[in-house]
Amino acid sequence: MAENKRLGVYICSAYGIGEAIDCEKLAEDLKKIENVVICKVRKDLCTESGADEIRQDIIEHNLEGIVIGASSPRFHTEIFKFDPKIAVDRVSLREQVAWTHEPKHKETQRLALDYMMMGIAKLNTFEPPEPMILDINETVMVIGGGVTGMNAALATTKAGFNVILVEKEAELGGFYRKLYRLTPTKEPFNELMINPCEALIEEVKSDPKIEILTNTKIISTSGQPGMFDVIAKSNGEEIRFQVGTIVQATGWIPYDATKLSHLGYGLDNVLTNIELEEQFKKNTFETDKVIENVVFIQCAGSRDQNHLPYCSSVCCMTSLKQALYIREKYPHSKIYIIYKDIRTPGPYEMFYKRVQSEDNIFLTKGEIKFVQKVNGHLNVTVGSTLLGDEISIDADLLVLATGMVPTTAVEENGNKSESEGEPQEIPLSGNRIIHSNILNLTYRQGPELPLLKYGFPDSHYICFPYETRRTGIYAAGTVRAPMDSVSAKSDAYGAALKAIQALVNIKKGTALHPRSGDMSFPDFFLQRCTQCKRCTEECPFGTLDEDDKGTPKPNPNRCRRCAICMGACPERIISFKNYSVRMISEMIKSIYIPTEEEDGEAPPRILCFMCENDAYPSLDIVAAKKIKYTPYVRIIPLRCLGSTSISWIADSLSQGFDGVILFGCKYGDDYQCHFIRGSEIANTRMENVQEKLKQLALEPERVELHMLSIDEYDKIPGIFNRFAELIEKIGPNPYKEM
Ligand code: SF4
Ligand code: SF4
Repeated sequence: MAENKRLGVYICSAYGIGEAIDCEKLAEDLKKIENVVICKVRKDLCTESGADEIRQDIIEHNLEGIVIGASSPRFHTEIFKFDPKIAVDRVSLREQVAWTHEPKHKETQRLALDYMMMGIAKLNTFEPPEPMILDINETVMVIGGGVTGMNAALATTKAGFNVILVEKEAELGGFYRKLYRLTPTKEPFNELMINPCEALIEEVKSDPKIEILTNTKIISTSGQPGMFDVIAKSNGEEIRFQVGTIVQATGWIPYDATKLSHLGYGLDNVLTNIELEEQFKKNTFETDKVIENVVFIQCAGSRDQNHLPYCSSVCCMTSLKQALYIREKYPHSKIYIIYKDIRTPGPYEMFYKRVQSEDNIFLTKGEIKFVQKVNGHLNVTVGSTLLGDEISIDADLLVLATGMVPTTAVEENGNKSESEGEPQEIPLSGNRIIHSNILNLTYRQGPELPLLKYGFPDSHYICFPYETRRTGIYAAGTVRAPMDSVSAKSDAYGAALKAIQALVNIKKGTALHPRSGDMSFPDFFLQRCTQCKRCTEECPFGTLDEDDKGTPKPNPNRCRRCAICMGACPERIISFKNYSVRMISEMIKSIYIPTEEEDGEAPPRILCFMCENDAYPSLDIVAAKKIKYTPYVRIIPLRCLGSTSISWIADSLSQGFDGVILFGCKYGDDYQCHFIRGSEIANTRMENVQEKLKQLALEPERVELHMLSIDEYDKIPGIFNRFAELIEKIGPNPYKEM
């Protein structure tokens, strides 16, 4: 590894930086460093002319790296673009020094010098990575031929990519095809619509870029994005093909109504909404007598901790729609819709109003007390109504508005079908969820997409919907969340674009979101690998398979460059050209720790490791609001808190830092962590840190860990200030003077 590059160092004195620190003095201090070939201060550094001067210096002085002390790296990114062979570090003098600290204060000047020194130390161990260009397959496989799958396929081909559309049934269409009419989706939102499914199927069938495989199930999916090798059973034959990325649009199954006997299921004339829909579709809705009273029970199994704790999203609209079916056939019937709440978001409210205004359709909030058979009649007793009275309704027909279960969830005790070795698709109840076999991945970490609670496959719903924990595989439609066909269509487009974006990035050899554009890959120095398997177990994306002995076998295109493996490895043998244990260690070492002996005073020094995804950008908001905080903290951004090496904490404490504070994204089921488990893993590793503190005979309070989302930026100054006060109270680290 090349050491001590020929560096150019540039300091901007605009945007209040010149008013807060002595830029010339800073430059003089930095010029003393051996490999700083040139160091300049400019008032208009963040302009094209400032960047041009740097470009000229690179050529004239044969520079290998440049450190720019100016605005935060999130600003002026277009201006500061240089030859990719040049190592660049942007030091946030504006946001992390000038705008957030006392101007012209000794500690502010010291802070600026430390940050510039950290930038120099970083570049001395930093190699610009080069992309790994692999020959990839650019076909997208869409699994599921329902409304989501078909729209995902069409969206993909419209963008110029080929699709293999896999459907387990003999026909395309899925549940969408079974719908008799659709809830209105356009102005004036009051008339039911003819189901356009057949036209959609024809469009898909006539698209020459879509290869349709019906009667097909995936037997195995191996390899990695850009080169997934798929074995499938299609019409009884085994077939093999390769695809680049995958959209899983396998949809939903209805909640198992046999679990709803308390709502009358199993009695005569009690149907689910699905059964009613099918009967209207097939024109088999016949009863032996005139229908006079019909009751719909909403949230049948949904929003119920004993069944499906979530709202299934479409059942309210479905019942309103089906009430109109019944009215059409039996115009004089009375229809009662008993709900917990009616949920008809957006313009569907207009449809709700229309149905509500119909004669003889009665909607009331209420709790079903019981459903029973009285003298051969169905009787529904409803309590807690809006009027407070209990009501009793004799019904000729009872419809249960049952909800949606993702096809990824089947019961733990789901029987295996002897013939195919597959779990039966039985809806979940309680928390007993296992994966349904759809993808049959040959990954070490398991054959299917990891699931969140309730059995939906993983998706970071806030920042990146459609993403799953398996790189290059995207979930769309009702397998991802309950939704109607309109939302499923837009979901399909979103996932298709993600799948295409992944192909484009992989082709260029660059990482996918959130490190888009990063060309680095983890390098494993396997001669020193002890086969401890920590990296393979902790990688959240299933990147690492392993050989028989347990040595990791990386699949580079699955990698998201989070560096969690790097933080996991006790041997410290995993590194990236532009990010390594050594790089951060050198940055830590470059920070000056004042001592009473040398400086006459020893203000505390706190090292902060901050995740670059939420917490670090929050600092820019803090700065924009000019909120001040303690100057004792030195912040090092990390790719993910999960990349934290315990050695950094132990070394910094033995080096004399008085405290260490870590900021990661929130973790848990409703996680914010951009690398899913990174901050959770960091939290677990903290137990080892506490052990280390004990060994060093240091107070446990010297290390704190915080989880933060970007909108909690205003908490950061308070946390810093309080921690600095605490550290002052505890007193200096005894290792400081050693
Ligand atoms: S960098 Fe992240 S995604 Fe890549 S192998 Fe390491 S832990 Fe897995
Ligand atoms: S964590 Fe390090 S030592 Fe352990 S298996 Fe992975 S590379 Fe080998």
